[in-house]
Amino acid sequence: MTRTKVIILGAGPAGLGAAWQLAKQQRAHVTVLEQRDDVGGNAGSFDLQGLSVDFGSHRLHPSCQPRILDDLRELLGPDLLDRPRHGRIRLGGKWIHFPLKATDLLLNLPWPFRIGVAWDTFRGILPRAKTTADPTFASILQQGLGATICREFYFPYAVKIWGQPPQELSAVQAQRRVSASSLMKMIRKIFGLKVDTATAGKGRFFYPRGGFGQISRAIADAARQAGADIHLSATARKIQLGSPHRVEVEHDGTTTTLEADYLWSTIPISVLPRLITDDVPQAVIDASKNNLSRAMVLIYLVLDQDQFTPFDAHYFPGADIRITRLSEPKNYSDHSDPVGRTILCAELPCNVGDELWQASDDTLGQLVKDALAQCGLPISAPVSHVTTKRLPQAYPIYLNGYEKHFHVLDDWASGLKNVLSFGRQGLFAHDNTHHALAMAYAAAECLHQDGSFDADQWRRHRDEFESHVVED
Ligand SMILES: Cc1cc2nc3c(=O)[nH]c(=O)nc-3n(C[C@H](O)[C@H](O)[C@H](O)COP(=O)(O)OP(=O)(O)OC[C@H]3O[C@@H](n4cnc5c(N)ncnc54)[C@H](O)[C@@H]3O)c2cc1C
Repeated sequence: MTRTKVIILGAGPAGLGAAWQLAKQQRAHVTVLEQRDDVGGNAGSFDLQGLSVDFGSHRLHPSCQPRILDDLRELLGPDLLDRPRHGRIRLGGKWIHFPLKATDLLLNLPWPFRIGVAWDTFRGILPRAKTTADPTFASILQQGLGATICREFYFPYAVKIWGQPPQELSAVQAQRRVSASSLMKMIRKIFGLKVDTATAGKGRFFYPRGGFGQISRAIADAARQAGADIHLSATARKIQLGSPHRVEVEHDGTTTTLEADYLWSTIPISVLPRLITDDVPQAVIDASKNNLSRAMVLIYLVLDQDQFTPFDAHYFPGADIRITRLSEPKNYSDHSDPVGRTILCAELPCNVGDELWQASDDTLGQLVKDALAQCGLPISAPVSHVTTKRLPQAYPIYLNGYEKHFHVLDDWASGLKNVLSFGRQGLFAHDNTHHALAMAYAAAECLHQDGSFDADQWRRHRDEFESHVVED
């Protein structure tokens, strides 16, 4: 019997996870096409002056499905470190431990913030009239968490992360992004009175010794060993649907065509219609233009000192500081090497093509230095090098009414025979790596040894994915 052939677009965690599971379980022969010269997608790493650095702060959260975590433990062995979280968030001009700790909050929160939250908690207990207007990110959080946390934290943070006023964002953004939906739930969580699956392992994270991208590299190696082909610097340029599907691949200036029974795509769902040569309905093309992603510039500063601070990450929700987060990769894996050098990675959300996206490394490096000086963290060591990376698709933006556009795309893609779109970009889901891997495992399960795909089972998995809540 001839083996089922699957082409997977994208070698991020979703594409690699699916390739590995399909190859290991001998469900199909798999070819993965990745446009970059390395695997890992947004969850990858690269080497910078002797240190492995990630595309922004990445942690593997303990809420990862146990079977996936077991697999990763087996692949990475002692390299998968179990680390305590040690971050800080800047609230009202003060530094508070992040994740939030009860004692730190009680001792260090500015008084106006404490009084505001106490008042909001009291008001939250009183019966309130239900609002009749359509819920938005702003109204859901305002109702659940009160005015103070919204004003001081979530609302300015939302404007920085998604570039939109909170009133313009869909309620879905609040459901997917904010794990504590009410002040009482948040208080119970902070004071340790509530332990659920999302908070299990709270205060800890897993991190590979060789950088977050080691997860994807290990999965890619395992997939290759099981027989999968992974082509790097290979961009899918054209897709001709049929039996078999034909994918035109550009690789180092040469164009080749590959054929397969199934096409599994983890690239942005809004890009897929542009690659397909068959008739794509105008409504789908229009919807793809309305499916928006926020971009990000990552600014790396190489400092001639052992350590900048002992903290793994600093979070900046306030409107006064332009970056949203600063991480120090050395502190994630507790490396002491290289001696006399550390790296900072600043996250600056923006839009593709805007002023920040186009700014020079020097300008962006200065922006980070100024921001840190402004909040009392001046860089005093010499900065020997500044470099930047740009992510066109960092975060999905769920504007009010975005579902309308997404459903047009999703219904169209779901109706294509033997095509599957999944992963963070493929389902336009603000998901973590362990969620992308969960999608990959679920997809592989649905492809049976006889080459048939269980669409009903996939629909049930899609319902499960709706419960994913992203963790920072
Ligand atoms: C700043 C930031 C911080 C994050 N922090 C965390 C964290 O702490 N913990 C966590 O678990 N997750 C975190 N995430 C999320 C994590 O990065 C994603 O969940 C994960 O990368 C999703 O994997 P994926 O395979 O679905 O998509 P991606 O990683 O986006 O992979 C898609 C791949 O498709 C490729 N591609 C696109 N077009 C083509 C084409 N035409 N041909 C071939 N290849 C193509 C891309 O190059 C890419 O490699 C963070 C994300 C960001 C942006």
